[in-house]
Amino acid sequence: MEKIFPNILEAIKNEDIIKKSKRIPMPYFGLFALVVFDKVKELSSETSLYEIGEDFGKFLSPKNIEELKKVFKLMDFGDLEIDEKEQPPHKIKLSNPPYKWIAKDEPIHDFIAGILAGCLEEIFKKKFIVKEVECVCQGKDKCVFEVVETN
Ligand SMILES: [Zn+2]
Repeated sequence: MEKIFPNILEAIKNEDIIKKSKRIPMPYFGLFALVVFDKVKELSSETSLYEIGEDFGKFLSPKNIEELKKVFKLMDFGDLEIDEKEQPPHKIKLSNPPYKWIAKDEPIHDFIAGILAGCLEEIFKKKFIVKEVECVCQGKDKCVFEVVETN
């Protein structure tokens, strides 16, 4: 599997390849994540899904907000709403996210919050903490993420 990692990194922004790619239904992707995460925990690492998402976002490495939105579409992770007058943005909304059929009383998209933090770091060359404050899984219209710059 490791043999194909360079090819994967080359393909992530290639719309032709992405559009022709097979789809993994989200619950199976979640299962895959669970297995990887369990393995990481087994190695007694304290890492969180947020931190894994952050590295994921750095690999995605969008050049700007427009490309960040495009990459989310390509991943089928939903539609991002970002006010481009704010550079960097303080608030990001996401409609149609993965796992929207889950009902919880707290936000669930830590992984996506991490991805956004990693992507924003690549775009603005600054560190951010991204926190989900409202979630479709709580019956809200959209997921809402707050973005705070750190030093
Ligand atoms: Zn959410």
